[in-house]
Amino acid sequence: MPEPPYLKGLNAPQREAVLTTEGPVLVLAGAGTGKTAALTARLAHLVATRRAWPSEILAVTFTNKAAREMRERVGRLIGEAVEGMPWLGTFHSIGAKMLRRHAELVGLKNNFTILDTDDQLRLLKQIIQAADIDEKRWPARALAGLIDRWKNKGWTPDQVDAGEAEAYANGRGAQLYALYQARLRDLNACDFGDLLLHMLVILKTHRDVLELYQQRFKYVLVDEYQDTNQSQYLWLRLIAQERKNICCVGDDDQSIYSWRGAEVSNILRFEKDFPGAAVIRLEQNYRSTPHILGAASGLIAQNSGRLGKTLWTDMDGGEKVQVIGVWDGPEEARRVGDELEAMQRRGERLDTAAILVRAQFQTREFEDRFIAIGLPYRIVGGFRFYERAEIRDALAYLRVVAQPADDLAFERIVNTPKRGLGDKAVAKLHSLARAEGIPLSVAAAQILDTDELTGAARRSLGNLVGDFARWRALLNSSPAFAEEGDQPQAGGGGSSQTSLPHPELARLILDESGYTAMLQADRSAESAGRLENLAELTRAMEDYETLGAFLEHVSLVMDNDADAQAEKVTIMTIHAAKGLEFDTVFLAGWEEGVFPSQRALDEGGNASLEEERRLAYVAITRARRKCFIFHAANRRIYGQWTSSIPSRFVAELPGAHTEEETTMTGGESLWRANWSANADPFAHLAAAQSTRASTRGPGWQRAAASGRFDSSPSRVVEARASAVSFGNPGRSDISV
Ligand code: ATP
Ligand code: MG
Repeated sequence: MPEPPYLKGLNAPQREAVLTTEGPVLVLAGAGTGKTAALTARLAHLVATRRAWPSEILAVTFTNKAAREMRERVGRLIGEAVEGMPWLGTFHSIGAKMLRRHAELVGLKNNFTILDTDDQLRLLKQIIQAADIDEKRWPARALAGLIDRWKNKGWTPDQVDAGEAEAYANGRGAQLYALYQARLRDLNACDFGDLLLHMLVILKTHRDVLELYQQRFKYVLVDEYQDTNQSQYLWLRLIAQERKNICCVGDDDQSIYSWRGAEVSNILRFEKDFPGAAVIRLEQNYRSTPHILGAASGLIAQNSGRLGKTLWTDMDGGEKVQVIGVWDGPEEARRVGDELEAMQRRGERLDTAAILVRAQFQTREFEDRFIAIGLPYRIVGGFRFYERAEIRDALAYLRVVAQPADDLAFERIVNTPKRGLGDKAVAKLHSLARAEGIPLSVAAAQILDTDELTGAARRSLGNLVGDFARWRALLNSSPAFAEEGDQPQAGGGGSSQTSLPHPELARLILDESGYTAMLQADRSAESAGRLENLAELTRAMEDYETLGAFLEHVSLVMDNDADAQAEKVTIMTIHAAKGLEFDTVFLAGWEEGVFPSQRALDEGGNASLEEERRLAYVAITRARRKCFIFHAANRRIYGQWTSSIPSRFVAELPGAHTEEETTMTGGESLWRANWSANADPFAHLAAAQSTRASTRGPGWQRAAASGRFDSSPSRVVEARASAVSFGNPGRSDISV
C-alpha cells in the first residue's frame, strides 16, 4: 500500500506522534522541529483513517491565523473532508461557540455579547462608584487586571483566594468581582475570560453537558501547549478525561505568556494527570541553519529550570548570525531598510522577511523609514503606529489646538479621558454648532454663555475650553512660530511660555488633559506600552520644525496604505511571531532596558529575566536562513537620549555562531571605548559628529545642539547608570 501523503517526509518520532492515536501523547520539542507539522499530519491521519469525523476532533491553536493555516494544510492533505471542522480554533473561539449552546445554564441568552476592554472598564467603573470606593486609589483597570487573572486561574468569585482578594480595595476584590459577574448577566454579556470560565463551570456542574462533549470529541489536539493557562488546562482535562485521546505539543523554552496567566507547569501536570502518557521528543530542526540554531541554543542554555532537550540539524552552510551595533535608532531603521532593498535587488521577496521587536513603540522608526523610501510593510498583531487608539487620541488633541475647526478631532477627545461630557452634552453642542454654522470647539465656548449646560458638565466644558485657549496661546508663542515672523501672543507670558517647543507642548497637553494620568492609573501590561507609544510620538515630533508640519506628515503617512496585494515586509512583536517562520529575520533593539525590558529588570527576579530570554530564543528561532541582531549605542526613550548598552543576550550568544559588526568608525565601537575610565567621555560626540554626519538624523543634531546630550562628565556617568537600571521607578510609571 502506498504511503499516505501526510506521512511523507516525516521522521520517526514525528510519525510516532501521528500514529500513536490512542491514549495521551505529549510532544515536547524545541523550535522548528516540526511539532505543528506533526500535529497537522495527525489531524489528517485521524480523518483519513476514519477514526473520527472532522466534527469529532477538537483542535486548539494559539491564534486564529494558526487555525486557518492548519485548516488549509489539512485541506491540502485530505481534501474536502476538512470543511466540516467546526472545532478547530483558538480557546476563545471554541469557548464562545460552546457557550452559545449552553448559555442559559449560566444565566445568559445564547445571543450574549462579548465585551471589549473599553466596555468592560466602563462597567467596572460604575460598579466601583456604586460601591463608594475611591477610584483614584483603586483604579478600575487594576480590578480588571485582577479579575482577568482570577478567570485565567479558573476561579469564580467564591473561589478567589483570600490573600488574592486583599489586592484590591482592602479585600473587597472578590465581592466586586461577584457584582461585576451579576451585572454582566443582567446585560446578557460576558468578557473574554468568561468564554472559558463559564464553560468550565458548566462542565463541572452539568454532567450531561460534560458527557456530551466527552462523547463528541474522540480526539483532542493542542498546539503551543506551554502557553495554556490554568482555566484552559482544566477545561481540556475535563473534556479529555474520559477517552484520554489528547495530544499536546509544546516547548517549555518557548513559554512567553506567563504575564497572561500561562503556566508552564501544565507540562509537568500533564504527565501526572494522564499517567502513562507517551512522551515524544523531536530533536531534528528543519527550520534554521546551524549557526542560527547554535546561537539560539547557546542563549537558552543560560536559563535554569529547563526540561532540557537536544536539537540538531543536518542542514549545512548558512551565514553566522549578524550582530550589528549602530549609532542610534534611526540608523537601525536605515540599515534594515538598506538590507531589504538589497534583498529586492537580488530578487528576493519582501514577504519572506520580518522585523521583530520587543515592544510596540519600536515599530515607529521603521515605519517612518519605510514610508520615506517607499518600502511596503505591514504590521501584524497590532495597529500601524499612527493608527493606535492612544496615538489617535493624542493627535486629536493636537489637531484641535492647531485647527479649531477640526470637529472630528474635537468629538474624539471631548470626553476622553472621561470628564462628564456624555452624549447629551455633545448633542447640544452639535445643535448649536449647526444652528450657528460654527465648529464644535467654538460652539463649546459659546454654549457656556447660555444655560444649556448645567452642573458638572458645564464646569468641565468650561475647563476644557480654557485648556484649549491656553494651549493654543502656547503654540502660537512657540519658537518656530516666532521664527516665521509671528509675534508671541501669550500676552506677556513669562519666558517659559515663549520657548515651548511643540513636542513639549504635546507633553504638557497630555498631562494637563488628564490623558497621561488615565493611562498611568491603568496597571495593565498594555498601558505601559501605550505610554511608551505616546513618548515615541512626542519624540517623533522633534524631527519636525512645526506642529503643522508634523501633522501634515502624519496625514500623509496615514494615507500611505500601499496596495493590499503587494508583497510586504512584516513588522511585529516577538509575541505575535510565535509559531511562525521567515527566511530573513531582523531583531531590533537588543539593548538593556529595551530587551530585556525595563519592566523585567525592575522586577529583579530571575523568573522575569528567564522569560525574556525565552522570548529571545523564540525570536532567533523564527529565522530560517538569515538572522540580524541590532543594538544601538543611543536610544531616545521617553524623549530623552540615553546611552544604551547592548543586551546581555548579545553577550550570551556563542561567538562561534555570530559575526559582530559595528557601524561606528574607529574599529572598536566608539561608545565602548568611551566608557573606559581614561578615555575622554566626549570623544565619541566629536568623532561621531565628524565621521557619521551622513547617517545622523536631524533629531540627533538638535538634541546634541540643545545640550540634552549630556554636557558634563558626571552626566555621562549618570546616563550610563541609567541605561543599566534607569535609576527610576520603572519606565512604565514615568509620565510622558
Ligand atoms: P515552533 O516551535 O516554532 O512552533 P514547530 O516545532 O511547530 O516550531 P514547524 O513549524 O512544524 O515546527 O516546522 C518547522 C519547519 O520545518 C516548517 O517549515 C516545516 O514545514 C518543516 N518540517 C517539519 N517537519 C519536517 C520534516 N520531517 N522534514 C522536512 N521539513 C520539515
Ligand atoms: Mg509550531
